[in-house]
Order: sequence, then structure tokens, then C-alpha cells
Amino acid sequence: MSKSREFEKLGFIGLGAMGKPMLSHLARKLPPESRIWVYDVVEQMMDDICAEFPDRVLRGKSAKDVAQKVDTIMTMVPEGSHVRSVYLDPDNGVCNTDISNKLLIDCSTIDTATSLAVKEHIAENFPSASFYDSPVSGGVVGAIKGTIAFFLGCAESDPNLQRLTYLMKLMGGQIIPCGGPSLGLAAKLSNNYLSGVIAIACSEAFDMGMRSGLDPRTLAKVYAAGTAQNAICDKFCPVPHVYSEAPSSGGWKQGFKVQLMRKDFGLAVDMAKRVGSRNVLGDIGLETYDGAANDPRCRDLDSRVVYRYLGGEEDWQSKLNDA
Ligand code: NAD
Repeated sequence: MSKSREFEKLGFIGLGAMGKPMLSHLARKLPPESRIWVYDVVEQMMDDICAEFPDRVLRGKSAKDVAQKVDTIMTMVPEGSHVRSVYLDPDNGVCNTDISNKLLIDCSTIDTATSLAVKEHIAENFPSASFYDSPVSGGVVGAIKGTIAFFLGCAESDPNLQRLTYLMKLMGGQIIPCGGPSLGLAAKLSNNYLSGVIAIACSEAFDMGMRSGLDPRTLAKVYAAGTAQNAICDKFCPVPHVYSEAPSSGGWKQGFKVQLMRKDFGLAVDMAKRVGSRNVLGDIGLETYDGAANDPRCRDLDSRVVYRYLGGEEDWQSKLNDA
């Protein structure tokens, strides 16, 4: 069977900021005979996407109903509790119907324990079904552009890797098999922990340099030339108007919301504790993102708004001009 024919009957559950654009790529790129059954607890989400692709995207009544109609299911919901509900709800969950031989891919960013619990439940009850964690990186803009990266919880030798790669390539760029079940999530949480810590450190470093009299553009050049070089210091510079395309230069309006960073950072700190990893920056980082996520000046903005939360100077250009 060709790889595309395997995806003639696909399900997609969770049609929010990420799920909807990911699904749109599938609806545009899968062969014409493919049909996609969707489900979201919010009716409007289903109405919108069905109206956009009337011959292609069909409405499901529940997660279970979608599972009954398709061979492959993708899920993209906010948290572990939602993933549990989609798969394990005793009345309307995916596992409340026969899912033998089906391919199940969860792209949500959740805790590894929940993902493993769902996988184990499926392995015990439907041994021929395959469940994978496959969180994504690249944000809403990447989902719209079709450039997101997938961190796939499987080995390079996994028998489904080719099929999974075919499907994910329709929605994104890089697909990285991370070694085994839940390791896609472990990789994603570890990455976001690092990125979150760097954004705090970067904000503090700029702030101390600027308060000492340095122009942030000079500081950016110094970091880029020195050992501190990293993507947050330049491409995602937390100080506005140092790098014109950074979210900060557009008022932090586009990017990765600070509430999502708080969620992922919390999941990463929990994971570190569970696996016995010494984590001296974890609690203070979490406290910082918790504060920023609940600060009305920062909420709903890109997570690098932590610079504002920490008291960094935003109007540095006019102050330089006045001097
Ligand atoms: P979102 O809140 O915009 O969308 C989630 C959708 O899931 C909503 O439409 C909601 O109604 C639906 N949903 C919730 N519970 C459901 C259930 N039981 N059954 C069916 N549908 C249900 O969230 P999002 O931004 O699309 O994020 C989804 C996941 O992707 C999260 O885990 C998030 O951490 C991760 N993620 C988000 C981004 C981002 O920039 N937004 C980037 C990378 C990863």
C-alpha cells in the first residue's frame, strides 16, 4: 500500500491554535480520496474547519465516534487531563471502542507520566494498536507555515517511522525520533526548560549591562562574539528594538505565550524531580514565569516578556537620544 493510501481515513482531535493550522495542511495536502474526521469540545471549532474544507473534513460526535471511523488519530489538546479524557473517558474516549491496528499520535505537550499511562492502557487492551507521543516546536506561526518540528517518542528502528514521517512532513519540517516512548516529551520539556532559563538570564544580563551605561545593541554584539551567544540573545532578543524581527520589537504580540512557557517549565521541573535530576534553577525559574503569567502587563504576550516582568528598560532608545 502506498503511504498516502494508508491515510485515507484520518482523525484529528483538538482544533485550537495549533491543531487547526496543522489540520489545514493535512486537508490541503493529503490525496483527494482522503477524509478527515474531527472532534473538539467547542462546536465552533468544528464548524469553522468543516466550512473551510466542506468535502474533505467531517464532524465527529465524540473522540470515540472519530476512533470508530478512522485508522489513524492525531490529538492536539492542552494538558494531560485532556489527553486522559480524549483517550480514556469511560463513555466517549478513543479506547472505548476497538482500536486494534490503529495508529495514535498525541502531539500535545503534557507530562511524561500521563503519556506513558495512556500508552500502557492501550498496549494492555489493544496490543496491535500503536500510540506515540510527538510534541511539536515552532509555535502557531510555524504551524501555519508548516515548519514545526516533531519530537517523536520512538526509536530510529520503529516499524512505523516511515509512515509517521510521511504524515508529519505534510505539517512540518524536522522530525526527530527521540529513542522511545515518552522521550519526545522529555526532549521537548528539556528544550523548553533550557530556552526559558536562557530568557531569564539574558534579560538579567542585558539589564545589568544597560543600567551600567551600555547600549543594548553593543551588548548584543558582545554576546554574539563571545561565549554567551545563543538564539534568545539575538533572534528572540528580549529587549525591544535590538533585533527587529524578535517578538519584543512588536510588543511581544507574536510568539510563545508566557502562560505556555509557565506550563512547560512546570512540567519540566516536575520531570526533573521525578527522575532525580539536580535542578538549582528550576524553582526560581518557575516562580518567575508564574509571576509573569499572572501579571496583567505580561499575560498573553510572548514569554520573553519576562524582561518586562523583571523591570528591564523598554524605552531605551529615547533615553539614549536624550543623553
Ligand atoms: P488551544 O487551547 O488553542 O487548543 C486546544 C484545543 O483542544 C481547543 O480547541 C479545545 O477546545 C480542545 N480540547 C480540549 N479538551 C478537549 C477534549 N477533551 N476533546 C476534544 N477537544 C478538546 O491550545 P494550543 O495552543 O493549540 O496547544 C495545544 C498543545 O500544543 C498544548 O499542549 C500546547 O502546550 C502545545 N503547543 C502549543 C504551542 C503554541 O504556541 N500555542 C506551541 C507548541 C506546542
